[in-house]
Amino acid sequence: MELYNTLSKKKEKFVPLEEGKVKMYVCGPTVYNFIHIGNARPMIVFDTVRRYFEYKGYDVNFVSNFTDVDDKIIKRAIEEGVSSDEISKRYIAECKKDMDGMNIKPATKNPLATEEISGMVHMIQTLIDKGYAYEKNGTVYYRTRKFEEYGKLSHKNLDDLRSGERSLLVTGEDEKEDPLDFVLWKPKKEGEPSWESPWSDGRPGWHIECSEMSKKYLGEQIDIHAGGEDLVFPHHENEIAQSEAANGKEFSKYWMHNAFLNIDNKKMSKSLGNFRTVREISEQYDLQVLRFFMLSAHYRSPLNFSADLMEASKNGLERIVNAAENLKFLMKNAKAESMTEEEGKLFAQTDVFVKDFERSMEDDFNTADAVAAVFDLVKFTNSNTEADSSKEFLSKLFDLLVKLTDVLGLIVDKEEEILAEDIEKLIEERQAARKAKDFARADAIRDELLAKGIILKDTREGVQWKKA
Ligand code: AMP
Ligand code: ZN
Repeated sequence: MELYNTLSKKKEKFVPLEEGKVKMYVCGPTVYNFIHIGNARPMIVFDTVRRYFEYKGYDVNFVSNFTDVDDKIIKRAIEEGVSSDEISKRYIAECKKDMDGMNIKPATKNPLATEEISGMVHMIQTLIDKGYAYEKNGTVYYRTRKFEEYGKLSHKNLDDLRSGERSLLVTGEDEKEDPLDFVLWKPKKEGEPSWESPWSDGRPGWHIECSEMSKKYLGEQIDIHAGGEDLVFPHHENEIAQSEAANGKEFSKYWMHNAFLNIDNKKMSKSLGNFRTVREISEQYDLQVLRFFMLSAHYRSPLNFSADLMEASKNGLERIVNAAENLKFLMKNAKAESMTEEEGKLFAQTDVFVKDFERSMEDDFNTADAVAAVFDLVKFTNSNTEADSSKEFLSKLFDLLVKLTDVLGLIVDKEEEILAEDIEKLIEERQAARKAKDFARADAIRDELLAKGIILKDTREGVQWKKA
């Protein structure tokens, strides 16, 4: 399997740090509003990457944070006259609803920056102790020039950066030893959320959040770190400087970045105001259509959002879903049980679609070509099945279609779909049954969920669930 590594600017063979395992960190959204469909691109892309690794038998530890302390969150809280916490909690909940609609698998862990402050303080202290950071008037800065490899991810030269940065130098920052130095900890301003630290009551800088959360939940070295291409510099460059200086080890082996989702060929962003929220799209389309639209392009190519492309995606997805529905209908009415010899030979021909699909995914996750392989299978299915086909032949084709579309996170078997809300309801009912000592009912609910591919885990914090 090959993937493009921003670090080397080349496609590289994927070799995991630990056999059979993938440790993956994806920078998540800042939660001060509904997510827009630009934010949805990395979610869909890297969920698909995860799904393919799982399809190949890897055990994937997938961590993605929510940035829940930030100037924009504070601003929104002040505007509404509520706490920052209320804003971030609200939009995390809304984001999770959108993610569920896009069939994004729940992460192994979604750490919240505000719950990991003590670890960040500890990491900053390590950087100070090692001479990579210094404090000035309650603010802690990273001593960028001290990290010799600075610029290795974004392929920038420090001196070019310096001349660019000089003109950007703003008042209040002249206390820095060097214009390139960036903030690790900043003192609070009146009315802002803050935490105690050896330097001041304040809050962490954005970059240190991810360095710490990645280390805490995945360890000092990970396989893949990912996000949108705007994060290469400075966010990921700074994360590397922090993590590698603090831990004395290479941080991530592979760095993956998706290209932008554009509208009228400009980056979709909250600051430009040219965005569409995922929620708005969901009023017009099933979010599966949005997912299919995103996967119809290679993740490193810019993708322009348009009504026409969304319509084309809707039609494309319908073709696949219709093929699955048709197979199900034929299966219900099939008279013959077992596959004939001729059907066996026909089914063997589908191998080529599986090979095409895998080859595409293994070529830096070329989902556009993988979708083409699925269409080939759909075409084959439509032209080789009929009322006389055997149940075995039909169900083999159906299972194959479900297996491949599931890697792309597309749900083609509508009846099997179970919504997060329904799962939560059943879990609540099961808890109530247990309380009432109705263990038979509690077990029945567990089995019912298991049959739908939902695994429950009882933990001290409550019941957690995941899709099998
Ligand atoms: P933010 O909330 O701005 O920190 O963004 C969260 C994630 O969405 C990051 O990985 C960004 O790189 C990504 N992102 C933001 N806007 C776009 C866009 N227009 N196209 C693709 N990815 C984006
Ligand atoms: Zn990050």
